[in-house]
Amino acid sequence: MATTYQNWIGGRWVPARSGGTRENIDPASGEVLGIFPRSGAEDVNDAVGAARKALDSWRAVPAPRRGEILFRAGETLVRCKEEFARDMTSEMGKVLKEARGDVQEAIDMTYYMAGEGRRCFGQTTPSELPDKFAMSVRQSVGVAAAITPWNFPMAIPAWKIMPALITGNTVVLKAANDTPKSAWNLVKALEEAGLPAGVLNVVFGSGSEVGTPLVEHPDVDLISFTGSNEVGSGIAFKAAQFGKRLHLELGGKNAIIILDDADLGLALDGVIWSAFGTTGQRCTAASRVIAQRGILDELTERLIARTEALRLGHGLEEGTDVGPVVNQEQLAKVDGYMDVARRDGATIACGGSVANVGPLAKGFFFRPTVLTDVKPKMRVAQEEIFGPVTAVIAVDSLEEAIAVNNNVSYGLSTSIYTRDVNQAFRAIEGITTGLVYVNAGTIGAEVHLPFGGTRGTGNGHREAGQAALDTYTEWKTVYVDYSGKLQKAQIDVE
Ligand code: NAD
Repeated sequence: MATTYQNWIGGRWVPARSGGTRENIDPASGEVLGIFPRSGAEDVNDAVGAARKALDSWRAVPAPRRGEILFRAGETLVRCKEEFARDMTSEMGKVLKEARGDVQEAIDMTYYMAGEGRRCFGQTTPSELPDKFAMSVRQSVGVAAAITPWNFPMAIPAWKIMPALITGNTVVLKAANDTPKSAWNLVKALEEAGLPAGVLNVVFGSGSEVGTPLVEHPDVDLISFTGSNEVGSGIAFKAAQFGKRLHLELGGKNAIIILDDADLGLALDGVIWSAFGTTGQRCTAASRVIAQRGILDELTERLIARTEALRLGHGLEEGTDVGPVVNQEQLAKVDGYMDVARRDGATIACGGSVANVGPLAKGFFFRPTVLTDVKPKMRVAQEEIFGPVTAVIAVDSLEEAIAVNNNVSYGLSTSIYTRDVNQAFRAIEGITTGLVYVNAGTIGAEVHLPFGGTRGTGNGHREAGQAALDTYTEWKTVYVDYSGKLQKAQIDVE
């Protein structure tokens, strides 16, 4: 019998008010892993109410004390890393070593933000007047809604929850429908660490039944959303309408540029890892390989051989390279892009179909795919596919590679492989994405640096690092005049 889980609202584990439930399914086997609440607007209302009620006392807790709670949660995550990673692989399919990396990212962010409790630096600066002190300090925004996708089911909730909490906000988490257990594990770790009632709440359910009422709730001050452009743009519209602060992290169409002088073996390692890791379902997945013509033939041949050698299977099985995609809808979407590729004149050099025989029959598996003869304006070179598919595009020069890279509506991550330091720096300068890697794949961000994208990938905010604090705080500028007389700025300056 599958275990039944509940929402965490106001410090209590409670079912959805309607009593509704939904099964959590293993995408590799179809097995039912657990039963989670199918919540609705009334549960959202309870959670936002609890978060609002807890806000004043939480923001009054000294930040270093808040940091100690986060630190204790980090210790739980370390202790339970293997168990949480296995839960994650079971519910969304990524291979176990990658799931461990996802939990590790949550650990890193938790410890990083715990330390931020003793920093949260503002500025002090000389005043233009005598006997006057000037400084700026951060203050919390209020009740934050964190809405997260399924592809990094523990890391992304942690990226939002930890900076929000350390800066004195209270939070309502709406995790993705396909990955409730990873969110539950994270919330449970924070409960056990001693987070006061109502400071963090989690409401399980769908985008329309939980996400929409959360976004529209008048007591939500801030929305941090990671997910698709389609949903994100709808939320942006509502945030503007209701006057809420909004942080968006959306899709990507990332590229690896490989120049003629690159170490091809190293570049191929980067392509295989970046294109097919997490079954290509990373916002930073390398779904384009922009190759200079001198190495194009050899690169393509070796890429196809390595791609064909990848082993599909359950992410918990030893020897699996690529797991399933997350659900039937995603499988159909990836498959649909094969017709788009053919129609537009691309060649499916390997893969290109659903894999459903033998042990793969019960899961949502797609063969790792390399598309060749791809032109920069084709749909498969412009649109986010979010599956194990990468498109090889030929170019003549670094300048052309940079132009092709930049000429998409997304702007998240790019990498370049070259042994020439001058070319590398020219690329760093010319590439307009939010992340740039030299001689490494398009994935591998670290939590103490800003993470996010330009153009259609975001709205100018950044996740992680010091930049995350800007999302979750307002600046308060403070002047203290100890002259004992009226001093007028800009006027009494002579
Ligand atoms: P999605 O947009 O379908 O869902 C994201 C979250 O929004 C889920 O929790 C979902 O239930 C919720 N949601 C859906 N409709 C909603 C609505 N109307 N109102 C409020 N919430 C709603 O995205 P997904 O399929 O879960 O994730 C894949 C997408 O996420 C890809 O486009 C990927 O590139 C992107 N992503 C971006 C980053 C980044 O940092 N830029 C990181 C990971 C994933």
